[in-house]
Amino acid sequence: MDKNIFGELTELHVHVGSAVDPPIMWEIAHDQGIKLPTKDYWEFKKLITALEKTTYDKYLDLFHWTELIQSSPEAMEKSIYSIAAGAFRKNNITTLEIRFNPMKRNRGGERDLDHIILAAIHGMEKATIAYPVKVGLIFCLDRGFSPEMNKIISQKAIKYAKRGVVGVDLAGHISDKFDIEQIADLFTECKKEGLGITIHTGEATGPDEVMKVVNLISPNRIGHGVRSSEDVGTMETLSKKGIVLEVCPTSNIHTGVVSDLSAFKNIFSKFKEHKVAFTVNTDGPEMLGTNLLNEYDILLKNNILTKEDLLSATNVAQKASFIKN
Ligand SMILES: [Zn+2]
Repeated sequence: MDKNIFGELTELHVHVGSAVDPPIMWEIAHDQGIKLPTKDYWEFKKLITALEKTTYDKYLDLFHWTELIQSSPEAMEKSIYSIAAGAFRKNNITTLEIRFNPMKRNRGGERDLDHIILAAIHGMEKATIAYPVKVGLIFCLDRGFSPEMNKIISQKAIKYAKRGVVGVDLAGHISDKFDIEQIADLFTECKKEGLGITIHTGEATGPDEVMKVVNLISPNRIGHGVRSSEDVGTMETLSKKGIVLEVCPTSNIHTGVVSDLSAFKNIFSKFKEHKVAFTVNTDGPEMLGTNLLNEYDILLKNNILTKEDLLSATNVAQKASFIKN
């Protein structure tokens, strides 16, 4: 987009593993002496980006390298700082929530979790000194983790709730072995402690899981949730409960969750018809080769959403942010 016609922006759904500029990731990897599968920068860039259509599982596999490179306190401080600073400079984002799984950043327990978390908080604080951006961290629990491991993450989120952690999420590969019921109580406890709850669902899973998540956890927000558009009852429930969707258009198209932009036109028109509150996000700007203004621009230029719709989504995002002043 040539000019930002939307003013100050808010982004609620960004993963650390997919939001750091590839040259910075390359430098971090070299600073730490990480053995990469290639010595060529351009090959490396390909290794950590999904600039075209791929599959949902292949997309998640890209995080193997980014999470490994980010697995130290120094790397986390630099990563969080660069995401927040870049968001402000490139897109005038002044409210930003950044999410990650701290247990995927400690080399299987070799590094101390508290040091990883404190470094992330430090990177966040430093960015807020340099730029007028409000930042909050969200910890991701994982569908592939045991309930015990997920409990550790939720306890860390509660421990650091007053120091910059604003919410918890659930992410990871879809697995038949995982049942959200097993860890619903962890989210309930986090909610009691004042943390915001957002859950990845209605992305690789259908509206049936969205309803299950709503009934068991009643989250404030849902990561993606685009497949809620397949069921009127689900959309009506989301609307009635005021649950906000964090929609990430390019991400969904690149992972094959949504076929193309015309399918998005249909999805958004259903959300508007059933008054489902939605926001627009990138999921992972650097990995997907996009940014928030670019997402707005794509939706506007393809007549999927109007300028008013996008201003309204910005307003919804600001109100639904877990970052309190
Ligand atoms: Zn996500």
